[in-house]
Amino acid sequence: MGLKLFNTLSRSIQEFTPLDPAGKKVGMYCCGPTVYDFAHIGNWRTFVFGDLVRRHLEFKGYAVTHVMNITDVEDKIIKHVRETKTSLREFTGKYEAAFFEDLKTLNCRLPHHTPHATEHIAEIISLIEKLIARGIAYQAADGSVYFSIEKYRGCGCTYGQLLKLNFDELRTGERVKSDEYAKESVADFALWKARVPEDGDVFWPGPWGEGRPGWHIECSAMSTKILGPSFDLHLGGEDLIFPHHEDEIAQSEGATGKHFVKYWLHGAHLLVEGKKMSKSLGNFFTLRDLLAKGFIGREIRYLLLTAHYRETFNFTLEGLQGAHAALARIDECLGKLREAAGAPASGPARTVGVQASACSGDTLKRELQPAGSETGAPTDLPARFTDALDDDLNISAAWGTVFEWVREINRQLAENSLSTAEATAALTAWDKIDSVLGIGAPDEIEVPAGLAALLEARQAARKAKDFKRADAIRDELKAKGWVIEDTHKGPKLKKI
Ligand code: AMP
Ligand code: ZN
Repeated sequence: MGLKLFNTLSRSIQEFTPLDPAGKKVGMYCCGPTVYDFAHIGNWRTFVFGDLVRRHLEFKGYAVTHVMNITDVEDKIIKHVRETKTSLREFTGKYEAAFFEDLKTLNCRLPHHTPHATEHIAEIISLIEKLIARGIAYQAADGSVYFSIEKYRGCGCTYGQLLKLNFDELRTGERVKSDEYAKESVADFALWKARVPEDGDVFWPGPWGEGRPGWHIECSAMSTKILGPSFDLHLGGEDLIFPHHEDEIAQSEGATGKHFVKYWLHGAHLLVEGKKMSKSLGNFFTLRDLLAKGFIGREIRYLLLTAHYRETFNFTLEGLQGAHAALARIDECLGKLREAAGAPASGPARTVGVQASACSGDTLKRELQPAGSETGAPTDLPARFTDALDDDLNISAAWGTVFEWVREINRQLAENSLSTAEATAALTAWDKIDSVLGIGAPDEIEVPAGLAALLEARQAARKAKDFKRADAIRDELKAKGWVIEDTHKGPKLKKI
């Protein structure tokens, strides 16, 4: 079965066929973080979803070019720069660094390109110039440059490709300057915002006077620069469908006259304890907040990967405990498999290379059947797993194949019916699917920095014979879900 995905553009599930005539290369653009704060767990749901799409495509043998922009200038950022009295770079640099650290904690593959809006001002200006030359953009009396929806539609282009818009009820001809607005106020939107005193030092010289780009044009300029005027996949959270992605289509197709993106994928939102995340409700979690509670990246990644990307996901701390238990089941099974395969019990499962070389599940099935296998060890896991993900990334079904496999392996291990070769083949099968899941082996777990510092503090207290403090730290660690284990290399933290 080939890969099928729900395309927001056609509002239907479609077979995935890359634009590349050789069917090999795939261009994928994911709207990246707006670096004005630490990314929250909802943002991470969307970024982990992007990582899953990329990993699955790579697993199927596609050569993916993954681009994720860094939005380092837009309305919210300017407001915060003004309020904190810092420079733009100083302010965004801190959150950008945190973003890349978090990306690593969640074991997301690093995008091949992470362009910054502030480093693409020339490309943005040239795109706006093209739109002006084609009569689709104009400079208004306030000095800003706007995209004319009327002129765009007049050229036979459709505004409202991702979202059906009823132009009889909309106030066209008006202008909107802010980066975010609702569909009820659809209007000519800003491409270049003329400098105003509130912008402080954040401005660039441009053909229309000093100013800064609008948010939407940033993504059109960076995506087309790196991936060309037409590319395969564009991803983001569902809140970006309108106006951000609709405006990206209008700007890009308006400037190039070419079809912009073949498949638009949108991830549904994450709620926390059934509610929209908000600081006042006390249900607002950054990744760091969860690490400080003693959870680890692997557990958070697992939980974010349990629900289908088009379903709203209800995140709970209880769910994270469940993630811990589910991973423990997998780890225990893998540990026993390693023993059966004669590998070191605590060593990583990396027995054989993990890159899948073939595109079809059938080829994978053939590749993974151990020669002369009579007992039929469940090495067809990658093929069944791939079939599930090929069905519009049906992750629940994919996890179903994983836990079925765990059950079957446990049964065969209990019966002592797995040969060393079969155990090795089963581990290879696991490695292949983990190249998509990215949950890793338990000994690859990184201890959160805060907890490592606590462990050091405990050692220092013991050395100073302050046993009361040492015990208090041990209890604190335990409350966060970690125990101290003495090893020949000294004390280590282990997840309970
Ligand atoms: P931002 O940094 O605000 O530009 O958002 C980065 C990504 O996170 C975008 O793709 C958003 O659509 C997505 N996003 C924002 N809030 C949520 C949420 N609660 N659940 C899932 N994705 C979200
Ligand atoms: Zn974007």
